[in-house]
Amino acid sequence: MDDRLFRSAMGKFATGVTVLTTKVDGIVHGMTANAFMSVSLNPKLVMVSVGDKARMLEKIQQSQSFVINILSEEQEAISRLFAGQTGEKREMEFNWVDDRPLIKGAIASIICDVYSAQVAGDHTVFIGEVKELLLNEGKPLVFFGGKYGKYQEDMQD
Ligand code: FAD
Ligand code: NAD
Repeated sequence: MDDRLFRSAMGKFATGVTVLTTKVDGIVHGMTANAFMSVSLNPKLVMVSVGDKARMLEKIQQSQSFVINILSEEQEAISRLFAGQTGEKREMEFNWVDDRPLIKGAIASIICDVYSAQVAGDHTVFIGEVKELLLNEGKPLVFFGGKYGKYQEDMQD
């Protein structure tokens, strides 16, 4: 099957956009990811999928923890930065909870320890056990068909 066809089909599923963050040897690493889902309520588990070429893979393997930061509609530039699409090196400041780095302005930050890891083809699926949650006001950044967009509320009266 053609890769482009697969991506086009997956791109029909509108998602939010997250930046995964983790800290190893005092250095924060971040990566844009939309392969995220809620898994279980009891215990509270979530899932992310990280490509085997992503530097983030070994960072999470080392730290055994990560934060899923759900971006707001104002944070497209942050998504592009952490997807390596800007070619720019930027000093970022993070918020901190229990020594875990959080993206400022994210509408939610989900703080996880690795519960399990499963290699799946050219990605590794990490199940995270949720340790803490932080919520902020704001609307989500949306990704659909390989493009960014905004969430539009239904205007029925
Ligand atoms: P790098 O490419 O080295 O880093 C990513 C970028 O973040 C670089 O520009 C780096 O300078 C910057 N950066 C990292 N840490 C910091 C810091 N502390 N301060 C400032 N800048 C920093 N890939 C997946 O594996 N799974 C997904 O679910 C996924 N979803 C995606 C969704 C979208 C919408 C997009 C656009 C991309 C997605 N990707 C996904 C691709 C992934 O984001 C890129 O391949 C990314 O470049 C891989 O990052 P890396 O860990 O290899 O790190
Ligand atoms: P795109 O049209 O390539 O992506 C559309 C959809 O296809 C994505 O939402 C995702 O569900 C799926 N997809 C894309 N690349 C994938 C991969 N390598 N493995 C598994 N699923 C994948 O969108 P785009 O704007 O061209 O993406 C920008 C870059 O980010 C590309 O290099 C793409 O590979 C990467 N990306 C990777 C993932 C991922 O690894 N899960 C997800 C989204 C984007």
